[in-house]
Amino acid sequence: MNGDQIIAICQMVLKQYEKKADAIEALDRAIGDGDHVINMKRGMAKIVEMETSFAGLNLEEGFKKIALALLSGIGGASGPLFASLFMGMAKPGPDTFAQRFATGVADVQKRGKAREGEKTMLDVLIPVSSVFTALEAQGATIGQILKTLKETAQKGAENTRNMEARKGRASFLGERSIGTVDPGARSCEVIISTICDCLSDGEIKI
Ligand code: ADP
Ligand code: MG
Repeated sequence: MNGDQIIAICQMVLKQYEKKADAIEALDRAIGDGDHVINMKRGMAKIVEMETSFAGLNLEEGFKKIALALLSGIGGASGPLFASLFMGMAKPGPDTFAQRFATGVADVQKRGKAREGEKTMLDVLIPVSSVFTALEAQGATIGQILKTLKETAQKGAENTRNMEARKGRASFLGERSIGTVDPGARSCEVIISTICDCLSDGEIKI
């Protein structure tokens, strides 16, 4: 994957995200302050606007550029957290995409100091990363991996419904946060599902 392909995927993600935006905004209005979708769309739009500056970049440079754009351009808890995800994925070294993603997720955990089960985006990111690593170790095909990651993201987001929020604004609601899916988790689901769909035609190699 190179800079141009990263941008092509971001454009698809923004398009799909816009379709789900109202439903996700309603989640943040229910258990947050209602700005999550605005934050996410602003971040994605910023990346897509920088389209031409991604040309010729490699994966690490592309991810770093995304991280810096998210860090400088987006408010809320989610901006710096997604920036950490991409900054982690930009770190040189990992041979595989699964390892790169695991480093990014570990950096989100470090920044947000949250664990699985606390009703955050990590309830999607952690299981997706674990399954990704496991499937890669088993030598699963790319098709199997993409299908399972999508299902894992969907389950992860849905699982946050019955959790009590322990981190972020939703934690102020305590038990009243139970019954609503976490908006950040739903955003991650939509993003991951779209990326899996984009990659499943095999034109872009991860
Ligand atoms: P804010 O909560 O500052 O308004 P957003 O609305 O953009 O920011 O993002 C809220 C989302 O951020 C939540 O739905 C949750 O998934 C995620 N989040 C909040 N705090 C944390 C944390 N400490 N670790 C991981 N994710 C978090
Ligand atoms: Mg919010």
